[in-house]
Amino acid sequence: MRVYLDHNSTSPMRAEVRSRWLEVADQFLGNPSSLHASGRRARAAVDDARARVAAALGVHEEEIFFTSGATEANNLALFGVLAAAGAQAGLATTAVEHSSVLEPARALEAAGRRVTIVPVDAQGLPAPDAVVHAAAEPAHGLVSVAAANNETGATPDLAAIAQGLRKIRGPRPRFHTDAVQALGRLPVRLQEWGVDLASFSAHKLGGPPGVGILWRARGVGLAPRLHGGGQELALRPGTENVPAIAAAALAIELAAREQPAFAERTALLACNLWTGLSNSLSGLRLIGPAIDSKQRLPNTLCVLVPETDGKVLVTRLDLAGLEVSAGSACASGALEPSHVLSAMGLARDEARSGLRLSLGWNTTAEDCKRALAIFRTEFSSSRAT
Ligand code: PMP
Repeated sequence: MRVYLDHNSTSPMRAEVRSRWLEVADQFLGNPSSLHASGRRARAAVDDARARVAAALGVHEEEIFFTSGATEANNLALFGVLAAAGAQAGLATTAVEHSSVLEPARALEAAGRRVTIVPVDAQGLPAPDAVVHAAAEPAHGLVSVAAANNETGATPDLAAIAQGLRKIRGPRPRFHTDAVQALGRLPVRLQEWGVDLASFSAHKLGGPPGVGILWRARGVGLAPRLHGGGQELALRPGTENVPAIAAAALAIELAAREQPAFAERTALLACNLWTGLSNSLSGLRLIGPAIDSKQRLPNTLCVLVPETDGKVLVTRLDLAGLEVSAGSACASGALEPSHVLSAMGLARDEARSGLRLSLGWNTTAEDCKRALAIFRTEFSSSRAT
């Protein structure tokens, strides 16, 4: 039996979600833009999905936009808000954002926009004041800070940032959060966080791949990235992927409802796993906020295995039946050290030796026990070579 502890990369689809997907795919629903009965059935399925997502997030239906994933949702938020805000509008973000925020930031900078990258501390957290200061001097149009980091699990204080942004004189910058890793793991309280836009992805929480969501509060200017039909209020044109959207909505509904139990269960499993690892292997370091910190995801452990190349270890663990990530999965294959660990001040070699174990909706205590046993065996042999 293999053990999968890489849920921050993607999570298997839940059985109920798969059934919903098949149920919708098996009926011919038509194109939601068609006026005939088949089209109207498809439209009803998309409307129903939007209502479910909006209810799960506590927002209005017309604020929900379906996209192909969080990468697209992040791109739409960054390019779309700045395009609507005018040529002078700049972006402030942090050094540990996902590449689907940092790469758009680079492209915006190359296109002549002011882009400020705020550093993080040794735990991977930006100081709220530093974000606000960067956004204020001179005023930027948009601030983007992830609600939870995919590599370390660090969760910045978004409410403190929002509070500071409200005090900026002149037009307040808009505030976007990449909440991909937060949904289903932490309470997602968009109003309390004080954000204007948030991105989500269904495949991180038991939904199908290929469905993202951008929530955009009423009244926040947004220009489309794609031009075509009038779907999604013409802000994200293209025929909707109806079965996947219906399935994604169910996954989000379930994840939001089960979030408290998920957090309690995975926090206990992750804490025990960390205790087991640190007791058996000397020199192991937990990266990011402390295991009992309130500013960390319950399901994520980022550990540094000294004098080891994370990617070599991932391969060994894989051969032994344990699937984990070295740094960010999206960057795996590249030999570069993790930009997140580097931004936290780790030396190049250290930033290469990070391993991420992330637990999900179907992770059991038995999985963690097996993972620990495999890790112990493989770690000793990989150190010896
Ligand atoms: N943001 C974060 C924090 C992520 O972890 C990921 C997935 N690696 C994404 C964005 C991109 O999501 P998607 O795969 O849906 O494009």
